[in-house]
Amino acid sequence: MDTYAVFGHPIAHSKSPYIHAAFARQTGQALLYTAIDAPREGFRDAVMQFRAQGGKGANVTVPFKEEAYRLAGVLSGRARLAQAVNTLRFDGAEIYGDNTDGAGLVQDLTANLGVVLAGSRILLLGAGGAARGAIPALLAQGPARLTVANRTPARAEDLAREFAALGQVSASAFGTLAPEYDLVINATSASLAGDLPPLPESVLAGAQFAYDMMYGAAETPFLALAGKLGCARRADGLGMLVEQAAEAFLLWRGVRPQTQPVLLALRQQLTGC
Ligand code: NDP
Repeated sequence: MDTYAVFGHPIAHSKSPYIHAAFARQTGQALLYTAIDAPREGFRDAVMQFRAQGGKGANVTVPFKEEAYRLAGVLSGRARLAQAVNTLRFDGAEIYGDNTDGAGLVQDLTANLGVVLAGSRILLLGAGGAARGAIPALLAQGPARLTVANRTPARAEDLAREFAALGQVSASAFGTLAPEYDLVINATSASLAGDLPPLPESVLAGAQFAYDMMYGAAETPFLALAGKLGCARRADGLGMLVEQAAEAFLLWRGVRPQTQPVLLALRQQLTGC
């Protein structure tokens, strides 16, 4: 049976084995998907060993996406732009690297949540790996403008410069943001620690949609604040997780699975209802 795995550290709570098993059942594909906790200094060896044992492909998560980018001998255009790889496919002697995070985000926003990105004013909070993957995918949708704000402003400025050729993108510090955005996307890891990105409350109050890439059983602090401030439409990143997985599955198996039933089942598992 073809085998796949997700590599990360830690990895015990990964939802990817559940998602890919569900995709395999749904599409009638015979495959085995496991989670592998690679030591911080041992990612490359762990992947090579998995491949030597017949592994066909892998997902890669924190903290190994940049290392996976360096490991891949052939890169997709979007992996090259993101400078990070979350999906590997072992093609004979070649290791092909892709990045499906940005496509997963856009698919969740547009197809699952009905957000129109073309012509919209988007604020992206954060300038780490997730933001880097999201920027080219968001710009490809033709927003009126995309502003990147980050705690360390120089990182946002670097990203805005780097992606300037792809569309209307600029950088801002948190403190000087004005309430002029339709969609605010939290791509910081602040929610992981129960923190909030320090943006003026008026920005969230004036937005039509707030999206947090993080997800969990309870509403994230960012989404809770957006709700308190009157932002009616909100979503967490569970849909992005399922959609990026579907893109990876397509890359490996040549079949696009249906995401809605899997997303629904995962949401029920998370919330217990
Ligand atoms: P990185 O570590 O690469 O980047 C973290 C970013 O968060 C940086 O911009 C950092 O700012 C900022 N940050 C961290 N703490 C705070 C804080 N307290 N206040 C303000 N800004 C802060 O992480 P990733 O980009 O890989 O991931 C970001 C988030 O996206 C995570 O929550 C992750 O779980 C989520 N994610 C979700 C996915 C999904 O499928 N749903 C996929 C990928 C990521 P600075 O530069 O100043 O350090």
